[in-house]
Amino acid sequence: MNDGRLRVTVLGSTGSIGESTLDVIARNPERYRVFALGCGSRWRELLAQCRAHCPRVAVVVDRAAADALRAAVRAEGLAIEVLDGAAGLEAVAAHPDTEVVMAAIVGAAGLLPTIAAARAGKRVLLANKEALVMAGRFFMDAVATGGATLLPIDSEHNAIFQCLPGGYRAGERSPLVRRLLLTASGGPFRAMAPEALVHVTPEQAVAHPNWVMGRKISVDSATMMNKGLELIEACWLFGMPAGQVEVLIHPQSVVHSLVEFVDGSVLAQLGNPDMRVPIACGLAWPERIPSGATPLDLVRATALAFEAPDFARFPCLRLALDAARAGGSAPVVLNAANEVAVQAFLDGRLGYTRIAPVIGAVLDRLGSTEPGSLAEVQAIDGKARAAAWRLIDGG
Ligand code: NAD
Ligand code: MG
Repeated sequence: MNDGRLRVTVLGSTGSIGESTLDVIARNPERYRVFALGCGSRWRELLAQCRAHCPRVAVVVDRAAADALRAAVRAEGLAIEVLDGAAGLEAVAAHPDTEVVMAAIVGAAGLLPTIAAARAGKRVLLANKEALVMAGRFFMDAVATGGATLLPIDSEHNAIFQCLPGGYRAGERSPLVRRLLLTASGGPFRAMAPEALVHVTPEQAVAHPNWVMGRKISVDSATMMNKGLELIEACWLFGMPAGQVEVLIHPQSVVHSLVEFVDGSVLAQLGNPDMRVPIACGLAWPERIPSGATPLDLVRATALAFEAPDFARFPCLRLALDAARAGGSAPVVLNAANEVAVQAFLDGRLGYTRIAPVIGAVLDRLGSTEPGSLAEVQAIDGKARAAAWRLIDGG
């Protein structure tokens, strides 16, 4: 029964963004309720979320884990349908009984369910930047044909969205905008001696100075591939050429990004680094709701600093910039090779300073084509992954 509250589906609910989304929903129970929750395999965490949020449907991609959840749900007498497989995620993302879909699965695995939500005309809250990076044109087409409302949750893109004049239309450039300035903290190795980087461990790489995030995006922040992916994301979301999106190092993560207008005005959005702020913004837009974030105290804040990025220290940022300019399949290959290299690094199979060379070699090997369909995007993604694993396993 629809009681007037917006019914939210959270894809990737057991992750960092998923947990923050459920926290914001729990703070605003008169406006939202959970329709469905979905995750990869961590069914025990999902069970705890089911108890707290009573969704109608819960999805676990891993079949054995879904069976375990199904048995637990039945034993506890919870009235929750349990689905499995990637098809289960697509089914809840496009379900007629949900208005809002938070796309917070990490990596390419989030692509099809997020596209399904877009095609079904949902309010899509996009955290899963990899989906947009790899399938930009097809993703934006799905948003347009489905009549979906696309709202950026990545903090930088959400900041830019908030700074734009009213009437943002996904993918359309505002003629009033001259440049977008994407801020980046520079991660944990911004000031580390370059020769020390070779010894970096996964534990050091995931220890981000300002944000608490999942392991993959934390490594991406350390290499600054995250900012490269975000640059490509910004080009699609705001219809900007790569040359008009600039990266600015800002170690305090208080200014979340800026928009420069043709008259020279620069608008920025500020706040403490807490993803519940952009999540609350996306859920309630154009209204505002409490997010639980600590208010920003500018008197107590340390001085805000800005500097240009050092491409020699962050070769992944250069690779991403080149891929953004090349377009076509280059961002697909970049993203897939990066996902594999980061996984291999986290598993102790690849040194930190080998991440960029592996991605560069896969980009060189596969060259750039113009994918004509989503199926072709996925085929290129698969080839790039296989090439990356071959390079890693070959030493
Ligand atoms: P996370 O690792 O904490 O969580 C990932 C979620 O995805 C989990 O729920 C997991 O079960 C699910 N998942 C993983 N593999 C899956 C698969 N094959 N099929 C289905 N589900 C799968 O990651 P996170 O930090 O929450 O990030 C999620 C997304 O949001 C990423 O794309 C990231 O770039 C983006 N993002 C995160 C932050 C942040 O602060 N954490 C900020 C901006 C953008
Ligand atoms: Mg970000």
